[in-house]
Amino acid sequence: MREVRTIPLLTGACRHPQVMTIRGGTFRPVDFPAVAMLLLHPEEGPILFDTGYDPAFLEATARLPEALYRWTTPVELPPGADAASQCRALGHDPADIRHVILSHFHGDHVAGLHAFPRAEIHCARAGLDDLSRRGRLGATRRGLLPGLLPADLDRRTRFFEDAPRVPLPDDFQPFDTGADMLGDGSLLAIELPGHCPGHWGLALHDARWGMHMLVADAAWSLEAIRQDRPPPAIATALLGNTAQARSTLHALHRLFLRNPDLRLTPCHCPERAAEIGSDGP
Ligand SMILES: [Zn+2]
Repeated sequence: MREVRTIPLLTGACRHPQVMTIRGGTFRPVDFPAVAMLLLHPEEGPILFDTGYDPAFLEATARLPEALYRWTTPVELPPGADAASQCRALGHDPADIRHVILSHFHGDHVAGLHAFPRAEIHCARAGLDDLSRRGRLGATRRGLLPGLLPADLDRRTRFFEDAPRVPLPDDFQPFDTGADMLGDGSLLAIELPGHCPGHWGLALHDARWGMHMLVADAAWSLEAIRQDRPPPAIATALLGNTAQARSTLHALHRLFLRNPDLRLTPCHCPERAAEIGSDGP
C-alpha cells in the first residue's frame, strides 16, 4: 500500500454517561473527544476523514427537535477547534481539499462539511439513503442532522459501495477486502456494520505507524476493543443493530489479538485524544 501521513485533529468533545459506551460503565458523565483525521496523500494532497464538531453543529441544534441531540450529548467546542480552522493553521486551505471521507452520517462526523466546498464526499450510499428516509424528529433521535449536509451533496458523492473491491494486506485479518476509493490502493474503506446504517472505517499504510485502521465509531475506545466489551444493547439498539455492532467489535478484538502492533483509532477514544499535542507513545 502507498504510504499516507496522518494528523489527528481534536475537534471538540461531548459528554455521555459512560455506561452508554461500555458495558458495566458508570452513570457518571464522561468527556468523549471527537477526533477527525487529516490524511496527507502524496498526489491528492490533504484529505479529511470525518469532520468532527463545527460551529455549524451548534446552529443546527439551536431549536427543537434538533436541540434534543445537544441536550442529550452536550458539546464543548473551543474556538479554532473545528477541522477547517485546524487545516488552515496547518497551511491547508479548506477550499483546496479535494476529498472528504465520511465514516457515517452522525452529526458529530459531518458538521464541518460546509467548510470544504470543493471536496468530493466519499460515503456509504446505505447511510445517505437511511438519512433521506427520516423526518426531522426521527433523524434527530438517531443522531442525524440533515441540515448539516451541503445542498450540492448529490453531485459530489462517491459511494464506497461503487468502488472496486481489493484484497486487504494480511495484517488486517480477519478483515479481508476493502473498497479502493482513490483507485491507487492507498485508502481502502472497510464496512464495519452495526453502529448505524452505512458505517465504514478505513485501512491505510501510515508513514508513522505502519498499518493503521481508522475504526470510527465501531468502538468507543481502545479499551473496548482490547476487552471485547461493547456498549449495552439499549445504547446500540437506539442507533443501529446490536448483533452487527457486537460482531464488528469482536472482529476488531480478534484483529487486536492477532496483530497487537497494528494501529487502531476509534474517533472518540480518550487514549488517542490524549496523544494529540504530545509526541505520542
Ligand atoms: Zn456515530
